[in-house]
Amino acid sequence: MANCSNCSAPLPPNSIRCDYCGSRNDIDLKGINYYTTHEVDSTRVCPRCAIPLQTIDLKLDGRFLIERCDECLGLFFDPGELEALLEATVANVFAIDRSRLDTINTALRPNDYGVSYVKCPVCATIMNRINFGTKSGVIVDRCKEHGVWLDGGELRHLFEWMKAGGKLLDQERQEQRKKNEAEQERERRDRLAQPIPGGNYQGDDSSFDDYGSVLRMGDPDLFHLIRKAIDFFTR
Ligand SMILES: [Zn+2]
Ligand SMILES: [Zn+2]
Ligand SMILES: [Zn+2]
Repeated sequence: MANCSNCSAPLPPNSIRCDYCGSRNDIDLKGINYYTTHEVDSTRVCPRCAIPLQTIDLKLDGRFLIERCDECLGLFFDPGELEALLEATVANVFAIDRSRLDTINTALRPNDYGVSYVKCPVCATIMNRINFGTKSGVIVDRCKEHGVWLDGGELRHLFEWMKAGGKLLDQERQEQRKKNEAEQERERRDRLAQPIPGGNYQGDDSSFDDYGSVLRMGDPDLFHLIRKAIDFFTR
């Protein structure tokens, strides 16, 4: 957990503002060397503060440009960049620390802005709020076309969550879900393939021939429908 650089109190997760002294902490890119690119000012605008975003280079495997707001310290990532950055930080995480993950998320509270919709810094359309990683607790704002916005403090939270094995947990859950679905599908097929109770009529009346072939096809609905029809016409 990150601590306030001013008073050392633990910072609330998902936030850069200290509950004790009120100072704002720049924690998201702590430990990452980044460089201002001094490129022509981005035309992208902070969705929170409505001022131009600064382009910075994280220099991961060459140039890795993201945009940042100097005021609220929010970050904007082009599509796929956030995933790539997180991927790079958790390449060596092979275990799921469940109690750590629980702690990370128990302490979570709504971020400083509450539930609000923000505009894409590029096209100004209202972005979608999506849950990043099923259980990370971080809801990111995403424009399908242009990328993902993270409020200050959210990246740090995602780092911590990923480092505790959150991504592995997600993968595990997804695999479990697939397994369950496959299992259900198998059960469904088995049910259909089973002989229908009471449907073992082996009479010698040749008018029941079709009825027998429906049985072999194993469709219970069709079977009942046809049996009703036969009952009706042979009454
Ligand atoms: Zn403080
Ligand atoms: Zn801002
Ligand atoms: Zn957009």
